[in-house]
Amino acid sequence: MRRLHRPTRARVLLALTIAAVSFAAACDPPPPEPAPASPPAGAPDPATFACPVVGATYTDNYGPRGSGFHAGLDMFQTFGSDEVAVGPGRVTYAVEDAGGNAAYLWADDGNVYYYAHMWFFIGDSNRRVTKGETIGILGASGNATAPHLHFEIRLGGANGPTMDPYSTLVAAGC
Ligand SMILES: [Zn+2]
Repeated sequence: MRRLHRPTRARVLLALTIAAVSFAAACDPPPPEPAPASPPAGAPDPATFACPVVGATYTDNYGPRGSGFHAGLDMFQTFGSDEVAVGPGRVTYAVEDAGGNAAYLWADDGNVYYYAHMWFFIGDSNRRVTKGETIGILGASGNATAPHLHFEIRLGGANGPTMDPYSTLVAAGC
């Protein structure tokens, strides 16, 4: 003769435990607000930062893109707009497949600021520039479908880690 299935003591205990845990979870206080992300070491100071292209339209689009990673910010502005050095340093120019006519600003703060898709360069490569000095003219060279500046912050050097430039640009009034 078959025994009827009856809940065992263990099953009852388990059910009570689940109920108690659920109740506790429901009554937990909300998690604390996440602390605002502090800027990474070596991040540029917005107070001394010049907007690389004035009046641009842009969003916070640094981050994963498709299977890759978009290491900078796209600042859309009309063909022919000035692009300026965000700080004092040395500028070098390069013609690249993806970046097109690109500039590297080896800034005095130790960072390298990368400017891609210029229409053309202004001035000689490997020269000293001051903050706000025009270094190029905005265009759509390289892998670009609309005129914009692709701007990157590379911490500590050309091969250093990148950071999201958005908050720096916004804080700089850009
Ligand atoms: Zn871009």
